[in-house]
Amino acid sequence: MTLKIAVPKEITHDENRVALVPRDAERLTRSGMEVFVESGAGLGADYTDGDYEKAGATVVPNASDLYGVADVILKVQKPTETEASGHESEMMRQGAVLIALLDPLRNPSLVSRLADCKLTSFSMDMVPRITRSQEMDALSSQSTVAGYKAVLMAANRLGRMMPMMVTAAGSIIPAKVLVLGAGVAGLQAIATARRLGAVVKGFDVRAAAKEQVESLGAEFIDEHLQEDAEAEGGYARELSGDQQERNRQVIHRHVQESDIVITTALIPGRPAPLLVTKEMVGDMKQGAVLVDLAAETGGNCELTEPGEIVQTDKGVSLIGLTNLPATVPVHASEMYSRNISKLLGLMVQDNQWSPDYEDEILDATCITREGEIVHSRIKEQFRDQAAT
Ligand code: NAD
Repeated sequence: MTLKIAVPKEITHDENRVALVPRDAERLTRSGMEVFVESGAGLGADYTDGDYEKAGATVVPNASDLYGVADVILKVQKPTETEASGHESEMMRQGAVLIALLDPLRNPSLVSRLADCKLTSFSMDMVPRITRSQEMDALSSQSTVAGYKAVLMAANRLGRMMPMMVTAAGSIIPAKVLVLGAGVAGLQAIATARRLGAVVKGFDVRAAAKEQVESLGAEFIDEHLQEDAEAEGGYARELSGDQQERNRQVIHRHVQESDIVITTALIPGRPAPLLVTKEMVGDMKQGAVLVDLAAETGGNCELTEPGEIVQTDKGVSLIGLTNLPATVPVHASEMYSRNISKLLGLMVQDNQWSPDYEDEILDATCITREGEIVHSRIKEQFRDQAAT
């Protein structure tokens, strides 16, 4: 039987991305799968129904018709409550497969619901950081977009220009940009700020970040950097209270001197570390801008309000907007679509659904399987919760 792949229109507020772009829909239809797309699914990212039809997909008028036929559903956002038809996961057929950014460690009630609905689910944000899965790594592709957009938003809000200029009307000094956390998003922010001509400094608790920051033409802040805080998988480990305090002292002076501060520091499965305190914001330059890319997990700045832009009495803007990739929907969708198609490719052989659940990538991403919670870390989380 031909595998039926379905792409719904995202219903989360301000989500403009689409999980599969026409280019990849065409690849799937050419290889013999049937692709169904809900009418208007691609419009937020500038893809029309006609583009999908040209790619060989069938456009269906609404989500219930789409979910009625789907074997495999490709989504960006986790399923959520619809206005008219209840929860999206309840509209999916029992036994269907869902692939999306489920953020399962922070959403146990969603995981239970997926199991109750007898769905098999894979989470794009659980793809392991190994060489073989680089093409499927949606966290990296979307962080790249977020790092880029953070700099543009800050530059747009700043009352100064970014590059140095020597003009008949006088010389303009370049803006100073500080990037805290030099992972995927931070490095992209550094590269973007450098391209705009700013003088850039970067900071991270992983020693390996120094070379990467410097290779982009920025200065790495390593005064008093304690021992390397790199943990498993290239991620950072949480620092002790003392270490965090020492880092904040080092960062304070640099924050004070900067026109733009971009914070991107995350610890997997933990709240974001506090890097910029209320006092530090009070010492920022008049009119400076801080963009907190960690806003969704608690923020790196004490005064960040997730989803909001706030301004202090001194005119410092604190941007806590979340889901920046959705504000660059064309390229964010293109990259996500490539990631999700590659992951799907691991599960399908000769157009038949034949996942090897022993494969380390599928083992790490599979959350529920035909109604059972199968992910070891999530099962553990449920056991711990039941025990308390
Ligand atoms: P992340 O989003 O988890 O964190 C962002 C950055 O914040 C990291 O660089 C982290 O070290 C830093 N950070 C954490 N606590 C901090 C603190 N208190 N102060 C300052 N900085 C702090 O990380 P990421 O962007 O997903 O990347 C993490 C690592 O994984 C990097 O080494 C990256 O090169 C690597 N990576 C590898 C692959 C692969 O091999 N396939 C893919 C993507 C990323």
